[in-house]
Amino acid sequence: MECETTENRRKPNLLLMGAAVLFVALAVVFCLLLQSRASGAGAFRIRFGDGQTITVRADETRVIVIRDGKPAEEPTGEGEENVIRIENGTAWMEHATCKNRECVKQGRLNADTVGTRPLGPWIICAPHGVSIEYIGDGS
Ligand SMILES: [Zn+2]
Repeated sequence: MECETTENRRKPNLLLMGAAVLFVALAVVFCLLLQSRASGAGAFRIRFGDGQTITVRADETRVIVIRDGKPAEEPTGEGEENVIRIENGTAWMEHATCKNRECVKQGRLNADTVGTRPLGPWIICAPHGVSIEYIGDGS
């Protein structure tokens, strides 16, 4: 009689402990996921000219003007010009003076679109030799 009672009390305790352990494990996994998302903002690498690069963190807000293979202060709409905008983790070619503006049409590049875009992590302006690459957190 006494034994039975102890046995009956132990079972729910074990279940409760199991549930608690599971809950803690899930909470840890959830926190890790959140953390990796937050630090997973990543970065963009812009290539231009004679192999020069500019790396911009994805959480920065920047407008980068490349004209005739060199960084420029302001867009003028002259020469071989590309205007790259980085905002809210997304990069895109805002404006370009190339003939067909294929680079402008390549749309928005970020951690969410990188897997589904035809060019993957790249926005490329072939005529001007300017590219944007999403490099995630690595190099
Ligand atoms: Zn272009």
